[in-house]
Amino acid sequence: MKKRILLLAGGQSGEHEVSLMSARSVLAALPRDQFDVTPVVISKQGRWLPPTDTARALETGVSVPGGDLVLHRAASAEGYDAVFPLLHGPMGEDGTIQGLLTLAGIPFVGSGVLGSAVSMDKVMTKQVLASAGIPQVAWRLAVRREWGQAPDTVRARAAELGFPLFVKPANLGSSVGISKVRGLDELDAALTLAFSLDRRVILEAMTAHKPREVEVGILGNDAPVASPVGELSFGAEFYDYTTKYTEGQATMHIPAPLPPEVAARVRELGLAAFRALDCAGLARVDFFYVEETGELLLNEVNTMPGFTTTSMYPKLFEAAGLSYSELVTRLVELALERR
Ligand code: ADP
Ligand code: MG
Ligand code: MG
Repeated sequence: MKKRILLLAGGQSGEHEVSLMSARSVLAALPRDQFDVTPVVISKQGRWLPPTDTARALETGVSVPGGDLVLHRAASAEGYDAVFPLLHGPMGEDGTIQGLLTLAGIPFVGSGVLGSAVSMDKVMTKQVLASAGIPQVAWRLAVRREWGQAPDTVRARAAELGFPLFVKPANLGSSVGISKVRGLDELDAALTLAFSLDRRVILEAMTAHKPREVEVGILGNDAPVASPVGELSFGAEFYDYTTKYTEGQATMHIPAPLPPEVAARVRELGLAAFRALDCAGLARVDFFYVEETGELLLNEVNTMPGFTTTSMYPKLFEAAGLSYSELVTRLVELALERR
C-alpha cells in the first residue's frame, strides 16, 4: 500500500517563498511507487489553498490569497498517513502546526511541539543549551514593552555586551529583521526594526573576529546521526537575506576545511543540542568557529532547514551517501516510526 502524504508549504512567515521552492524539490523527489503525495500551499494569510491554486503557487512561486480555513482542512487531513510540514518560521516551524497535527493524531515529519517551539525562539534555545553546557555567545533578552516604556534600560543592556553586536527578532529566520550594530548611534534603528517583527528581541555579542560559519545536519529520532560538516563563505559582512538568496553570493564547502578535531566537535555538539532541545526527524545546527582562538559557539538550531536540492541540509547528507530522494523517504519513515 502506498503511503498517503500531505505536503504543506508556503505559510504565513517571511520565508513563504523559500518554503515553496523547497516543496517543489520534495514533491519531485518523493518516490511515486511508495508515496501518494498531495501538496497544499498555505497562503500568507494562513488559508489552505485548493488544488488549482496550490499547483499554480508551486509552479510560479507566488501564491494567491483566499482558500479554506485551517481547521477545516486539518480535519480532512485525517485521511493521510503522514504530513510533511515543509514550513519555515512562525506558524510552521514553531510548534503551532505541530500541535494541530498532534491533536489530529497524524504523524508528521520533524520535531514535535516542544522541540519546534523551543528551537524557534532564539532566547529559549540559548537558555536550554546553556543548561546543557553548550558554548554560545553572550546575549540579553528585551521585550517590546520595555523598549516602549524604558528604552534606556534596553540600551544599557545592549551596551553591556559591547559593540559590534547583533540585534535579532527572537522568532524569525532567513536573517529577516537582523542588524549588525556597530555603535550606540545604530542601536535604536536596529531595535525598532526587530520589535516591528517580534515581541521578543535578542541582543547578541559578536566574537572579536569575524567568525567562520559552519553547519551540521542531524537526522533521526532517539538515535540521531550527524552529517559531515559544511561551511558557508561569503563576501558580505554577515550572512544576511540578500546573501542567502542571491545566486552566487555565498559558497558552500562540503566538507568544511576544518581540523578533524574541530569537525568532530561540531558533530558532537550538534547531536547534544538536538537531544537537549528534544528535536526529532531533522535539524540543521549552525555554529560560529573563531579560527584565531579555536572557539566553537553554537548559533542556532533550525528544525525545518531550507530543503531545495541545492540547500545545505540535503547536500550534507548527500556527502554522507544519502541521495535527496533517499533522504526525504527516510524523513517520512522517521515520522511514521515516532507514532
Ligand atoms: P537566522 O535564523 O535568521 O538565520 P541567525 O541567528 O543565524 O538568524 O543570524 C543570521 C546571520 O547573522 C548569521 O548566519 C551570521 O552571519 C550573523 N550573526 C548572527 N548572530 C551573530 C553573532 N552573534 N556574531 C556574529 N555573527 C552573527
Ligand atoms: Mg534560523
Ligand atoms: Mg541562521
